Amino acid sequence: MMLTAATVVSGTELHQPGWLEIDGPDVIAIGTGIPTRRADLELGNAVVVPGFVDIHVHGGGGGAFPAGDPDQARTAVRLHRRHGTTTTIGSLVTASPTDLLDQVAVLADLTEGGVLAGSHLEGPWLSPRQGGAHDLTQLRDPDPVELADVFAASRGTIRMVTVAPELPGALDAISRIVDAGAVAAVGHTDATYEQARSAIDRGATVATHLFNAMRPVHHREPGPVLALLEDQRVTVELITDGVHLHPALYRDVAHVTGPDRVALVTDAMAAAGMADGAYRLGTLDVTVTDGVARLTGATTIAGSTATMDQVFRYAVRHSALPFLDAVLATARQTSVNPAAALALPRVGSLKPGSFADLVVLDEELATRGVMRRGTWIHSPTERSR
Ligand SMILES: [Zn+2]
Repeated sequence: MMLTAATVVSGTELHQPGWLEIDGPDVIAIGTGIPTRRADLELGNAVVVPGFVDIHVHGGGGGAFPAGDPDQARTAVRLHRRHGTTTTIGSLVTASPTDLLDQVAVLADLTEGGVLAGSHLEGPWLSPRQGGAHDLTQLRDPDPVELADVFAASRGTIRMVTVAPELPGALDAISRIVDAGAVAAVGHTDATYEQARSAIDRGATVATHLFNAMRPVHHREPGPVLALLEDQRVTVELITDGVHLHPALYRDVAHVTGPDRVALVTDAMAAAGMADGAYRLGTLDVTVTDGVARLTGATTIAGSTATMDQVFRYAVRHSALPFLDAVLATARQTSVNPAAALALPRVGSLKPGSFADLVVLDEELATRGVMRRGTWIHSPTERSR
């Protein structure tokens, strides 16, 4: 199939006008100008970007990954796919040792079945001082035996583990996580600058939602934020949902890190794509009001209700870059960089040999179509619903 559009973003390049040739599930060619053969689908003024890669998401559409229920997980994946997320890492939250093993095994089945691209453990090895919306009664220090059991239960499907590096045993845990072939992330942490640097030296390469649930910057103790921000080895997650982060910080981080080191994530929970009301995050009750999820009876933010197309639009609007520069920069942050951070093969960009995973956006950046593995999840020629 040959697609044409006013703007086609490969991930690292803009093609204007652009064309994309797809065979089965794969991209076979991409280019600028007049395509090599007649187009099967002309998308006019559309902006085509690589399918979004969300490496930190707990649920959506009423379903949650930590529920340990495959149907709920499929519901969440389906909701996010309609909003352009063609690669999903299922994030768990802090849970008891037995619940964690069960949940990891459920996500392993879904990964082997192609629904997920892997799992992310956010907890239980986090700081009680920066516990955020985690069950504080279940936070614990990393234990090599539990870590080995959890990895065994995952059958190689854990892609990332968030750890607070100041906990006893955490630096060793980071080495073990990296040796097991997963990415170690620093987050939910009260670490000093030096402790965060030690974590990076032991192999940590991702910052879990930089700024959120992290000791803030102080001029005499810059803490984990600066250590993670200044190290070229680290990809920093940002939640650009308009709630978690001031847009000035988004602009500043994108400027400081350059094009390759920001990964936008939703950190969405079950209420993404749903109405306000009562939900669960792991074992905790969450109330969503005006689209903002908070622990019931508290002010603590409990994940987001965002989808990747929303965080994409917010980032473009607040980037202070000319429109097309912003689209290109943001596409790296929503596709190329998260895929690279987790070494996910064949996703994150549109180039020969990649999966044909793409999002068709209109001039206002509203989602008009989503293709995954060469098949429309929803077609741009469908009547809007
Ligand atoms: Zn999270």
